[in-house]
Amino acid sequence: MKILLLGPPGGGKGTQAKFLIDKLNIPQISTGDMLREHVKNETNLGIEAKEYMNSGQLVPDKVILGMMKVRLNQEDCKNGYILDGFPRTIPQSEGLDSLFLELNQSLDSVIVIEVNDDTIVNRMAGRRVHLPSGRVYHIQYNPPKIENIDDETGEKLIIRPDDEESTVRKRLEVYHSETSPLINYYESQNLVYKINGERDINIVSDSINEIINNL
Ligand code: ADP
Ligand code: ADP
Repeated sequence: MKILLLGPPGGGKGTQAKFLIDKLNIPQISTGDMLREHVKNETNLGIEAKEYMNSGQLVPDKVILGMMKVRLNQEDCKNGYILDGFPRTIPQSEGLDSLFLELNQSLDSVIVIEVNDDTIVNRMAGRRVHLPSGRVYHIQYNPPKIENIDDETGEKLIIRPDDEESTVRKRLEVYHSETSPLINYYESQNLVYKINGERDINIVSDSINEIINNL
């Protein structure tokens, strides 16, 4: 099963992906998490990506496509995966389609999580992240058991530098101009299911499960 989660930054893609990896037993592939790992390790890719990320811009398509070509060829992707945060531009979607041709694969569904910009700004202000695992919390809507501590490892949570309000506004602009055109792109392939992402985390998850159970 190959699922693409599409939606604005802070829309709940990572949160929902974590439910799906347990349900479907396939990996989550989050380009954001992969890039943050590169930044942390100060690889060449990380050094190049950092400036774009911290200013709310997209990392160039060529860099992302190179990274994903390697990732999707790995053994654990054989039985499927959940794409979270990739593709994010039309050239990335086209690049993914070419890669699928080479690998003889295709997407089963594109789930679009719809959330208004004002909700997003509020969510980002309370987002806390466990960097090594990509687990996400919210101080109000999905708090960890102990403040600022990851439930599973006991390690510290962080605030992402790009979750500051002016950067979030920039990322929303980029989402509307560069990423939302993907909805039409995948609608023309009859793959799109739209979900109201304004509701509680568990209700959004139920809606996604319903779609997946009927695929
Ligand atoms: P969010 O979860 O808030 O949508 P991500 O963790 O997916 O954010 O991405 C954080 C940042 O990493 C983006 O603002 C962008 O700079 C970079 N990034 C992640 N995925 C991509 C991608 N597919 N193409 C270009 N840049 C990306
Ligand atoms: P994305 O991966 O799309 O950037 P996240 O899954 O990281 O989004 O969610 C962004 C923030 O909003 C996190 O703090 C998360 O706990 C919170 N969140 C996610 N889904 C919901 C929801 N349905 N209602 C309220 N808060 C949510």
